[in-house]
Amino acid sequence: MNGSNGSLETISCIRLLIKGAVQGVGFRPFVYRLAVELKLNGNVRNSPGGVVVEIEGTTGQTAEFIRRCETEAPPNASIHSISRLEFDPVGYDHFEIIESESDGFRTALILPDIATCKDCINDITNAADRRHGYPFTNCTNCGPRFSIIEGIPYDRPKTSMKKFDMCDRCSDEYGNVEDRRFHAQPNACAKCGPGITFLHTDGQETREAPLACAAEQLRCGRIMAIKGLGGYHLCCDATNDDAIDRLRARKNRPAKALAVMFRDIAEIELDCILSDAERKELESPACPITVLHAKEGGKLSPLIAPDTNDIGAFLPYTPLHHLLLSKISPLVMTSGNLADEPIVSDERELSRILGPIADAAVVHDRPIARKCDDSVLRVFGSQRLFIRRSRGYVPSCIKLPMSGPVVLGCGAELKNSFCLTRDNMAFVSQHIGDLSDHKSYEFFKREIEDLSTLFDLAPTVVAHDLHPDYLSTRYALENDFENTVAVQHHHAHIAACMAEHGLLDKVIGVAFDGMGLGDDGTLWGGEFLVADLVGYERIRHLKKYAQPGGDQATASPERMALSYLLTESDYATAKRLLPGIDENELATLCQMITNGFRSPLTSSAGRLFDAVSAMLGVCRRTSYEGQAAIRLQAVANRRVTELYDFNLDGEALDFGPMIREIVLDIADGTGIDRISAMFHNTVAAGIGEACESIAAERNMKQVILSGGVFQNEFLLGLASERLRQQGFEVYSHFLLPPNDACIAMGQAAVALARTT
Ligand code: ZN
Ligand code: ZN
Ligand code: FE
Repeated sequence: MNGSNGSLETISCIRLLIKGAVQGVGFRPFVYRLAVELKLNGNVRNSPGGVVVEIEGTTGQTAEFIRRCETEAPPNASIHSISRLEFDPVGYDHFEIIESESDGFRTALILPDIATCKDCINDITNAADRRHGYPFTNCTNCGPRFSIIEGIPYDRPKTSMKKFDMCDRCSDEYGNVEDRRFHAQPNACAKCGPGITFLHTDGQETREAPLACAAEQLRCGRIMAIKGLGGYHLCCDATNDDAIDRLRARKNRPAKALAVMFRDIAEIELDCILSDAERKELESPACPITVLHAKEGGKLSPLIAPDTNDIGAFLPYTPLHHLLLSKISPLVMTSGNLADEPIVSDERELSRILGPIADAAVVHDRPIARKCDDSVLRVFGSQRLFIRRSRGYVPSCIKLPMSGPVVLGCGAELKNSFCLTRDNMAFVSQHIGDLSDHKSYEFFKREIEDLSTLFDLAPTVVAHDLHPDYLSTRYALENDFENTVAVQHHHAHIAACMAEHGLLDKVIGVAFDGMGLGDDGTLWGGEFLVADLVGYERIRHLKKYAQPGGDQATASPERMALSYLLTESDYATAKRLLPGIDENELATLCQMITNGFRSPLTSSAGRLFDAVSAMLGVCRRTSYEGQAAIRLQAVANRRVTELYDFNLDGEALDFGPMIREIVLDIADGTGIDRISAMFHNTVAAGIGEACESIAAERNMKQVILSGGVFQNEFLLGLASERLRQQGFEVYSHFLLPPNDACIAMGQAAVALARTT
C-alpha cells in the first residue's frame, strides 16, 4: 500500500460516482492526471451511470482529489453530483483507466455536439500538421457527440465511427493519457478516418479537392448540398441575389429568413451589429444561429431576410465548415429539406434535395446517427431567447423542480419536440417539426423510440395536448400507454416556463400564441391563467373574434382583419383596407363571419397581430407561420411611446377601441412605423392592466410570459418592462423557446405534478 505522504493517517479506499455531462469531454484523462499528480492509486471507468473512480489515500488526499475534481473539471464537463462510498483498502499499486461497464441504469448524460476547438482549428490550418486540411479533425474538447452516438456508455464501438479502424498514429494518440486526443472517440485522420467526396447530380464523383470544387460551384452561383453534423445544409453565396432567388424557388421558401454562416467574427461585424453577449453566444461550444441586427450598407443580399432587419448569423462549427468558409464566405446555410419535411441526413435521402434543389453535393462516409437541425436564438437582455433549441443543446438535461416516474410529453403539432423525464431531469428532444407532414411524424415516432432506448427510459406516464387531431395526441392515445394525462395547451406553456425557473407556487400566466384548444372546446390563444403546475383557472382572455374558415385563416391574415373590421368598424372600411379580397370571396367571408358558419370564435393573440398587419397592408397573406407578426414588428418605430385605447371589460381584454383608432390613423395617413409601434405599446399596456387587475383580486406578483407571440422580442421587452414597473416579478423562457417547442416539457411537468 502506498501512503504517499508518509503520514500515519489511515488509508482508505473510496469509490466515487460522478454524475453529469462527464463522458466524451476528456473527463477520465483529467481524473487520471489528477490522481497521478496527487499520488493516488486506483482506477477510473465510464459506466452507464456516470464516471466511476476508485482511489486509495488518506482522508486529506481524497478530499483534495474531490475538491479539485469539482473546480478543475474539463471545459465541456458539468458535474451534477458526486456520491461516495468508503471501502477497506484494496492495495492498488498504480492508477489506471479501465474498460467501461455497459450494464446498470443508464444515467450518464450524453453530450451535445461541440463546435471545433481552437487547437483543432490550428491543426487543420497548420501546413506542418498531419491533420492539415482534414475535415474530420476533433479532440476530447470538441467534435460530434449526440449526432454520432448509437448507445452508451460513450465509447467508439457505440458510435457511427465504429467502422473506421484507427491507424497507428491515431491509436497512439487515443491511448496516450498525455495527448489531447486520449480516448477521443471520433479521433481520426486522413489516413484512417472518414473522407469527403464531391457528388454531381448524375452520380459522378470527384475525390480530388472536393472542397475546392464546391467553392468554385458556389462562386458561380450554384447551390450545394453539404453534409454536416446533424444533416445536410443547402448553401449558396450569401451575396448573390440570383443564387438565393433560385434556392428560395426550389426549396419553396419564398420569404422566411435564411441563416448565414460567416468565416469569423470580423466578417460578421461588417454586416451585423454585435454586442459582447451576442459574440459570446456565437463563439460558444453550441455555436447557435444568433439573430443579430443588420448593419446598413452590408454586403449581404437583401433576399436573405426580406421581412426583417435581422440576420441569423453563425460561425463554422466543424472543420469541414472552416475549410470551406476559408475559400468562400459568407454562405447561406439552411437546413437541407423541402418545405416542412425533416432535414435530410443520409445518402439514401439525398436524392430529395440533390437535383431538385442542389446542383451538386459534398458528401462524406461518417454516418449521422440522428438528425439534428441548427439551433436559433437571440440575446434578450442578459438571457437567451431560443427560437429553436436543437444542435449544441440537445440532449442536455433541464432540471425540473420535482421528481417522479418516467414521463413522456408528446408536445404539440407545429414546431414539435417531445420530452422524456427521469427523476428531476427533463430531456427535451431536438427540433422535430410540423407533425402534419408525414415524414416529420415518422421522424417523431422514430426519435421517441431512439431516445427512450438511448437513455433506457420506459415512460409510465404519457402527457399530451387536449387537441384530438394533433398527431402527437393520437400517438399518446393509440399506443396503449398505461397512464395518459391530457394537458391544456396554454397551461403547458406556462408550466414549461415555471419549470425552467423552478417555480411551484401559483403564478399569473400570460400565454399569447397562435392557437390552442381550450378546455371549453373553443380556440384559445390570448390567455391569462392563474396557474400552478397541477392546475389553472382561466381568469382573463382577449376578446373573441370569428376566425373565418378556421385553420385556413392562419395563412391569410386578411381574413382575420376582415373579422376584426366587421366587428369594430364597418363593411365599407373593411373593403377599402383589404383590396386583396375579391368581391365574391368578400361576400362569402362576410356571411361566414356574421353567421358563424365554419368560423369558430378565437381569443388568439397571434390572430390579433395578423389582423393589424393585414389592415396596414404590411402582410396580407403569409408563406410561413408568424410572418405577419414578424413584418409588423420589423416596421415599428421603437422611439414612439404613445398608445391606443383599450378596455378591460370583466373577463375580456378588449382591443376594439384600438382597432377603431387604427382605422382613423390609416385614414389620416399616419405612417405604419408609428401605428405598429403604438399597437405594440398598447398590447403591452393591456397585458399590464390585466395582470394588475388579477393581482388586485388574488394578491399575486409573479408573472410568466409564454407562447409564440413572445418570440417578438420588441413586445417581450415592452411587456416585461411595464410589468416590472408595476412591481411584478417577470419570468420568460431562457432554456426553451416560448413557442410550441416548449409544450412537451410543460406537459411533462404538469403530469409529474399531478402524479406525485
Ligand atoms: Zn478539438
Ligand atoms: Zn489515423
Ligand atoms: Fe402554443
